[in-house]
Amino acid sequence: MTSLPLVFDAPRRGLPPRHLADLSQPERRAAVTDLGEPAFRADQLSRQYFGRLENRPERMTDLPAAVRERLGEALLPPLLTELRHVETDRGSTRKTLWRLHDGTLVESVLMRYSDRLTVCVSSQAGCGMACPFCATGQGGLRRNLSTAEIVEQVVAAARTAATGELPGGPARLSNVVFMGMGEPLANYNRVVAALHRLVDRAPAGLGLAQRSITLSTVGLVPALHRLAGEGLQVTLAVSLHAPDDELRDTLVPVNTRWPVHEVLAAADDYAARTGRRYSIEYAMIRDVNDQPWRADLLGRLLSGRLAHVNLIPLNPTPGSAWDASPKPVEDRFVAGIAAHGVPVTVRDTRGREIDGACGQLAAIG
Ligand code: SAH
Repeated sequence: MTSLPLVFDAPRRGLPPRHLADLSQPERRAAVTDLGEPAFRADQLSRQYFGRLENRPERMTDLPAAVRERLGEALLPPLLTELRHVETDRGSTRKTLWRLHDGTLVESVLMRYSDRLTVCVSSQAGCGMACPFCATGQGGLRRNLSTAEIVEQVVAAARTAATGELPGGPARLSNVVFMGMGEPLANYNRVVAALHRLVDRAPAGLGLAQRSITLSTVGLVPALHRLAGEGLQVTLAVSLHAPDDELRDTLVPVNTRWPVHEVLAAADDYAARTGRRYSIEYAMIRDVNDQPWRADLLGRLLSGRLAHVNLIPLNPTPGSAWDASPKPVEDRFVAGIAAHGVPVTVRDTRGREIDGACGQLAAIG
């Protein structure tokens, strides 16, 4: 067999072409300079994209037409194509199905509340964590998302909000939760870069408040310690779902690698180094993890820690026999935790009817 000369770059397998949002501000300047333009053009592009949420080069009228075309082609390739969106809660919850450049599908969910506007984003297409109660976990991992593919979900949500497409008129996106498809800490570098794009001030980024961004994880312990050292102060949510290793081994299989006490120690490390209280996510599954003794054990485990508990009524997923705990059982569970002085809330589950609630995102075309 003769070897063919490599006349063009091999495509980065699976990942999309480079995009402005993949790059830090100095990297953008370098990229623009490489394209033969002065570095300040990078700031102009960034102001358009992060400041004005504009991703169509032809609308960037502060740039000369030829420059728009060249820089647009090189740095603003379209990454997300909306296939469709569905709405519920009288239009205040909207799930969008996106097609990525290679045909991969992901979903994000935009939720308007009286006091905030939150987008729930995906960090991976599919997920490798295989939690049996979660729809995303059933299909396995397809691939990591690039930094820009994550950021674009947020920018698209901010644009939808700003243009007044949601009931209640134009609004500003205030919160981002990494609770869509995927395990964010399994796509560490790209997710951390995306966090920087979200919190950096314009023109470097969107300038969102750190505490209004929540990263939810199964608790990949080494990555959690690393995150604690990033100098970021985003809100951490840990998906515990059981206070004991025996049950957690089955609900969150990665627990066999990093058990409950190690996960909590890593979350404590995050709290100590960032000064931020973390939340413990606990899906209430009827007759599985909702016994009073487990509430008691959870309360005892968390007492004295900088943590609060967020109970999520299980969102049933197709093909699963599991269901949410009945309300009286939930009430007793809340009281059992609160008896230890641990703050506990029950999450209002948005988007159930459109399979857009936590753990229901499956992105089946
Ligand atoms: N992989 C990350 C983030 C994605 S899921 C994580 O596990 O934290 C976001 C939250 O929804 C997690 O707490 C997850 O355990 C929870 N979840 C998954 N499936 C659910 C379901 N069917 N009902 C309620 N919550 C669910």
